Amino acid sequence: MAAADNNNSNHPTLLHGKYELGRLLGHGTFAKVYHARHLQSGKNVAMKVVGKEKVIKVGMMEQIKREISVMKMVKHTNIVELHEVMASKSKIYFAMELVRGGELFNKIAKGRLREEVARLYFQQLISAIDFCHSRGVYHRDLKPENLLLDEEGNLKVTDFGLSAFTEHLKQDGLLHTTCGTPAYVAPEVIGKKGYDGAKADLWSCGVILYVLLAGFLPFQDDNIVAMYRKIYKGDFKCPPWFSPEARRLVTKLLDPNPDTRATISKIRDSSWFKKSVPIAVRTKQEIEFDAFSGEDHKAKQAETLNAFHIISL
Ligand code: ATP
Repeated sequence: MAAADNNNSNHPTLLHGKYELGRLLGHGTFAKVYHARHLQSGKNVAMKVVGKEKVIKVGMMEQIKREISVMKMVKHTNIVELHEVMASKSKIYFAMELVRGGELFNKIAKGRLREEVARLYFQQLISAIDFCHSRGVYHRDLKPENLLLDEEGNLKVTDFGLSAFTEHLKQDGLLHTTCGTPAYVAPEVIGKKGYDGAKADLWSCGVILYVLLAGFLPFQDDNIVAMYRKIYKGDFKCPPWFSPEARRLVTKLLDPNPDTRATISKIRDSSWFKKSVPIAVRTKQEIEFDAFSGEDHKAKQAETLNAFHIISL
């Protein structure tokens, strides 16, 4: 059976005779994500539905294909799993692991995290990114909106739409597409001279760590050029509540020189990262979850964290 194209979130629809489509969980620029149930196994999944016409119009079909290839390659506890991809005449359907705890973004929008909670998420983020890099995959759009949480407090990296493979390296061994989200983007990515995807991802991890601990961004300005200037210079200050160990790690990650920036092994060796997370912090009770609040949170996202997409400046 062909996939149905009815997107009405109130009326479950049968997809390929395989999935029953349920309520809308959220939507992004190009996709709507629905709760769905695999009829044969009864398993719940997140069904991401992308309209082909819209994607073709803005020339992003290659990106979608890349997202599919990458997600098939990166199977890891801290990365959202892609189960299968289906297509109809007008839509592409991604059946993905359902992650029910919302975005890490929602937690920060409520305020900063305690260091041990931030450590738990950061350790999981680094584990996922290390795995991607070891397979020659660079995410290139790491930010709290692309980090989902499951009910057990496990972090899951998603949205590989802007990712790159080692094969995309130019002759100089570097990536050249300027992409990402301004507040999280590394200085060398804006610089247009080419960049190492792994080092650029680690800069974004540094911004994420800062945001988790501070509750606000390290580089902010209403004027984008002024913000980029701060990013170039690595012009930020850690708030007084950061522990000396956290301050040291953030500073090593937000080093504008990619050659001296902390690598994954340096991160793992840092005293802040190495501290074990108390069992209590790992329990459901300690890590409270927020329900999805699609529209609300998208509006809040723009105003609170000044985040928006740039592709090929
Ligand atoms: P963007 O505009 O950032 O490119 P997009 O169009 O690629 O986004 P997504 O961000 O992937 O769409 O998904 C849209 C919404 O659906 C998000 O709010 C996200 O929280 C939710 N969502 C995405 N994947 C899942 C999942 N696996 N489980 C549950 N909810 C999800």
